[in-house]
Amino acid sequence: MEAPANVADPHAASESNRPVPLLDVQRGNRPLLDEIQQAISQVCDSGRFLHGPEVTQLEQSVAEYTGAAHAIGCASGSDALLLALMARGIGRGDEVICPSFTFFATASAVWRLGAKPVFVDIDPVTFNIDASQVEAALTPSTRAIIPVHLFGQCADMEAILALAGTHGLFVLEDAAQAIGAGYGAAKAGAIGDVGAFSFYPTKNLGGFGDGGMVTTNDDRMAQVLRIMAAHGMQPRYFHPVVGINSRLDSIQAAVLNVKFARLNGWTTDRRTNAGRYDELLADAKLDQNLVLPQTARGCWHVWNQYTIRVPEGRRDALRRHLADAQIGSEVYYPQPLHQQDCFRHLGYREGDLPETERAAAEVLSLPIFPELTIEEQQTVVKRIATFYAGKQYAAA
Ligand SMILES: *Cc1c(COP(=O)(O)O)cnc(C)c1O
Repeated sequence: MEAPANVADPHAASESNRPVPLLDVQRGNRPLLDEIQQAISQVCDSGRFLHGPEVTQLEQSVAEYTGAAHAIGCASGSDALLLALMARGIGRGDEVICPSFTFFATASAVWRLGAKPVFVDIDPVTFNIDASQVEAALTPSTRAIIPVHLFGQCADMEAILALAGTHGLFVLEDAAQAIGAGYGAAKAGAIGDVGAFSFYPTKNLGGFGDGGMVTTNDDRMAQVLRIMAAHGMQPRYFHPVVGINSRLDSIQAAVLNVKFARLNGWTTDRRTNAGRYDELLADAKLDQNLVLPQTARGCWHVWNQYTIRVPEGRRDALRRHLADAQIGSEVYYPQPLHQQDCFRHLGYREGDLPETERAAAEVLSLPIFPELTIEEQQTVVKRIATFYAGKQYAAA
């Protein structure tokens, strides 16, 4: 299998030597550039760079799309998480349950408010927080739980909502990677008390810079979130509470409004690509230890990432093997949060969250963006196959 393919089939060789990027945002944006530039132009002409009608339009679109009663723009997904915790009054002495296998912002929002992140291990099949282990982590100081819908699939919300109901916990969905993800009949961001979204360029709905949004079904919460995002000001120049300045600007919203109209199509393409990887990787009959991602029952996955597991210490060798053929891949995430230097004072030890630590050592995300071609997917899978057939595998 390692013999140069061009001996047998020169065409196949030229195909498989073509680089495959992990993500190419330009392929999605390029066909829309005229429309986007026109939308940006309109903002420039209006001079309403903040609080423009573009922001209101996106808020209405996202509210309707997620099924939440309210959506409020803010500066980033990280701010969305922070604002939600602030609006709930989380602070010093409080504990907040979250996974350790997530992007840093999930826990930094907790830490910034003087509260303590309490990390719970993940379900190895979905990579999401293991709801069955939450109860054991509760203390009288526990105030909230942040399920993260990692890689585009909702966490086990039924179990989490049941626990939250019993113990009076605030449920903040970190839906940064999961806009449009389904959970039964509900959508990410409208299941818990508040949902946090990110429009970072690599997310399923990505802007031309930073942006974020919070969603909620609670009218009072929506009001508090808006006030918190505007310096805690209500009315103008009077501050009953200390908030922050976190705004989604009109230019970002204008770009996102154009892109929002294509979101469902892109999600369909991501789902098609995921299904195709499932087939191609199964057909390749690779080592039985290569584990494909799974969709949990009742979940509608939106595939922000297609993440395989490469056990037995071979992940990094496979990643190098892909990189040697200019095929992009990434490790989300190589160091769990409970093992980060900045959280050392929390006192976690190696082995405390075994599934989280195992995932960090095994995961590898492959290119899955909507415009990825069939040929590119075949290139990726062929290259993985040469790894398993070759001596890199034996040596790893
Ligand atoms: C991207 C992301 C965030 C933060 O969003 P930003 O817009 O980059 O601040 C938070 N949580 C998760 C899980 C993310 O993937």
